[in-house]
Amino acid sequence: MVLSSWYLIYLIHEERSQTQYILDIFTTHDFYIEKNILQDLDTEVEEEKIQDFDFIFDDSYQKYVDPEVPFIEKSYIPSDLRRLSWDYISDTRGDLRLRGTAAQAFENLAQDFYRDMGEKVVVVSSYRSYERQVQIKAWWCPDHLCAKAWYSEHQSGLAIDVWSASTEAYWKSSPRLMRFYEWFYENAHLYGYHNSYQNGVEIDGYAIEPWHWRYLGVELASYLREQEITFAEYYYSL
Ligand SMILES: [Zn+2]
Repeated sequence: MVLSSWYLIYLIHEERSQTQYILDIFTTHDFYIEKNILQDLDTEVEEEKIQDFDFIFDDSYQKYVDPEVPFIEKSYIPSDLRRLSWDYISDTRGDLRLRGTAAQAFENLAQDFYRDMGEKVVVVSSYRSYERQVQIKAWWCPDHLCAKAWYSEHQSGLAIDVWSASTEAYWKSSPRLMRFYEWFYENAHLYGYHNSYQNGVEIDGYAIEPWHWRYLGVELASYLREQEITFAEYYYSL
């Protein structure tokens, strides 16, 4: 169909990137565009956006922390760490910190968890410095359970452990913990959180950890949840 002026006005009110994308095509190609082609364009824009993330730089909210490839800077410390509010979070250490956006998102998640489940989320670990991870490894925690220092998602200031950083078997033996896990599995992506290690060492690099959640932003976390894949599976499929 020929693009009519009302439709152009509609496009201009759409999200700017999409409008710009369509107008770019509009000016470089021809003035005739089928509605089904427009729908295809929407899908392409969506896929492009997903692949636009920065997985490399240490301070990216979508930093991929590979079990074999560490942070660029060994001593990387996020600049926007802050303490979590205790309103709906039970803080077992008294000094739990995440990066700004991730902290706000987790506080929102915890508030809704409290509304639904009537309990505060118990947080047992969050940001851990390089030095802290060195201490943990000194207790002989094996590599498939605890990342080597310089390689831990906790150094990103985006990862958080809830209730019990123990074993998958322990979680499975507890109906209470499994209820909490199910709530997180159904809802955490709506706040940008993802369960990093769901498949075991071969695929994700670590044992299955129902307690370990990391912030990726709503868009990427929701995409992974919808596809039912982990960040590692997604990253290696690119
Ligand atoms: Zn963890």
